[in-house]
Amino acid sequence: MPAATKYLRREILDDAIALLTFDRPESTANIFDQPTFDELNEQLNLLETEKTLRGLILRSAKPKIYIAGADLKGFTADLNAERIAFLIEQGQKTFERISRLPFVTVAAIHGVALGGGFEIALACDYRVASSDPATKVGLPETTLGILPAWGGSTRLPRLIGLQKSLDAILTGRQFPAKLAVKLGMVDAVAYPERIIDLAAGVIRKNAGKKRSLRPFAVNRPPISRLIKSEAEKNVLAKTRGNYPAQIKALEVVFASLTLSHEGSLANEKNKFLELVLGKEAQNLIRIFFLQERAKKLAVDLGEPDSLPIKSVKKSMVVGAGVMGAGIAQWLSVRGIRVLLKDIGPSPLAKGMQSVDKLNREAVRRHIFSENEARNAYDRIVPVYEEVPLSDIDLVIEAAVEEVGLKQKIFAALEMKVSPEVVIASNTSALSIDAMAASLQHPERLVGIHFFNPVHRMQLVEIVRGPKTSARTVETAIRFTKGIGKLPVLVRDGPGFLVNRILLPYMVEAVRLFREGHRLADIDRVMLDFGMPMGPLRLIDEVGFDVAIHVARELERRLPYLGPLDDTLEKMVAKGWLGRKSGKGFYQYGPNGKESPNPELAGFQAAEPTVQNEGDLRDRLVLIMVNEAARTLEEKVVEVPEDVDFGMVMGTGWSPFRGGPLRFADTLGVGTVASRLNNLRERIGGRFAPCDLLSMMSEKGDTFYPRDKENTRKE
Ligand code: NAD
Repeated sequence: MPAATKYLRREILDDAIALLTFDRPESTANIFDQPTFDELNEQLNLLETEKTLRGLILRSAKPKIYIAGADLKGFTADLNAERIAFLIEQGQKTFERISRLPFVTVAAIHGVALGGGFEIALACDYRVASSDPATKVGLPETTLGILPAWGGSTRLPRLIGLQKSLDAILTGRQFPAKLAVKLGMVDAVAYPERIIDLAAGVIRKNAGKKRSLRPFAVNRPPISRLIKSEAEKNVLAKTRGNYPAQIKALEVVFASLTLSHEGSLANEKNKFLELVLGKEAQNLIRIFFLQERAKKLAVDLGEPDSLPIKSVKKSMVVGAGVMGAGIAQWLSVRGIRVLLKDIGPSPLAKGMQSVDKLNREAVRRHIFSENEARNAYDRIVPVYEEVPLSDIDLVIEAAVEEVGLKQKIFAALEMKVSPEVVIASNTSALSIDAMAASLQHPERLVGIHFFNPVHRMQLVEIVRGPKTSARTVETAIRFTKGIGKLPVLVRDGPGFLVNRILLPYMVEAVRLFREGHRLADIDRVMLDFGMPMGPLRLIDEVGFDVAIHVARELERRLPYLGPLDDTLEKMVAKGWLGRKSGKGFYQYGPNGKESPNPELAGFQAAEPTVQNEGDLRDRLVLIMVNEAARTLEEKVVEVPEDVDFGMVMGTGWSPFRGGPLRFADTLGVGTVASRLNNLRERIGGRFAPCDLLSMMSEKGDTFYPRDKENTRKE
């Protein structure tokens, strides 16, 4: 009889093999919280005394998640070093007990096994995984500002060697099952319904033989030191010293090669404690919680609605350009059929080529199989003529950014799709309300604003126009969550949330450039600040035509930003559009290598007017912070969390700083306001702090409730 407990189930299979199933009640995920540890230890008390068992299989009953890892709430609320030390020791001791069981142990992984979820698997003798695309393994701790401290930093290098374990731990990558086998992180793969048989087979084959892990031969000192110094160089180049977790993890993994097993576990714990109390880890963990929060976003439908919200099976994407093709690819891979519409065969052929290229790249990176890529591709039907649209569940328009054109497209579509179908625009900055004017039922129009490149950017802005109905918004939110993206709900306003904050920054970077600052200095200052690329490099990436279009739209609607100069327009006249034309602020070689465009001199003043690097950074950073505060003041979003989440997920805004408003709190709102006032006096009126910032500064307010973290200065 299975022993019934709350979080774990134990059964005995044929051949005296025990099967322990993690199945957290009323949850789609298993996590390691206190009750789970308590039950696991009770089970281990029983298992340790079982003399007749040949082996143990650890599996999960959840369809998508094996074990998601530690309960991160334990590492944020009420920070207390002693309590955190207890949590680490508890995980280490429990997994140690698993590794010492007197029979062969196998983790049968189906779904994601990350962090603690993979560390328990590492404590087993063997790991088998299902071929399901949901199955992924990895140690993403460093992306949260911490390090694997439940034995992961000690066991992984002993299993796969220093080089590969550093790659896994320092990037925090999630590995699909087949790739994990290639790397040695997992021993074998099988179809989901076969993994228990496979695990049992592994036990039978190895009965009585525990697996012992020793550091690999290649990890002898001269080689390992070389690997370490190479990794250190890479980490510093990538993180610019902003992410202490990567450096500490590197030290811990390297030390694990020479320390005893116990010594290495103690080292994991101590370094973990040094990291988790720091502001970088706290900010990164907060971003993680904001992602979880986005997954639960929903709007109140108010009155019970007569029209049910249908799940989207067949969509229409209008425009097969950069965005349309990216959206079509993303949807098709997630099983949604797509009617991809453009004005002629040539843009459609180009769009389908981009889809194919994205699919090939994903296959190369083991994200999905060739077969899945082919099936996805076949789900897209390219059309340029009129076709019946009665079976379409949702329309996403991604045609060129012109309000008149979009209005025409919507008016024509409205006649052809069923009355309950939601029509969405992917516009970057046009007013949803203005576009809705062409509809008989403006309540069905909403913005579903994807970011470029669609397959990489998780954020989607759901833009609610003044006439958009709650049902339309909720449909857009459910659709966005259903395709694995993270929604943020924003009000219809100039540039919505992300472009509203980003554009003034890009414009300021062009001003600094024109004033004579070196391209390299402008971009480096922001890379050092923690942005994924400098602002001028970003303009190249976005494309001058797109940037000018959005900037002119914002100039018209937000006059306080001051008049734009025509630097970019002059560059466009020379045929420079940024990366897509091979030349912008940088020039791009055939191998993708970039170097500063040598013909820039004519666009700049000979001498910079401002020499001070602090000014350079303040002008670029504080113009964003000011605009971020304005989005709250104008209720573009409701709470500071939305602003910070949107900027981190939509632009890669220095995640370790927690977003622009968290950064304002860290610096002090008073300091932000006074530095802005100083810039306003010296540089220009556009730096005048918004009313909300001025008021908060006077009252000594913060955007977030004060906690220990906010009192720590930069
Ligand atoms: P694009 O120029 O690459 O593609 C636009 C496509 O629309 C072209 O293939 C064009 O032939 C097609 N088109 C024009 N008129 C049409 C019509 N009447 N019916 C069907 N198709 C038509 O543009 P893009 O960069 O993909 O941008 C599309 C939309 O997405 C714009 O509203 C833009 O503001 C927005 N957007 C762009 C980005 C970006 O970084 N490029 C990011 C987010 C949002």
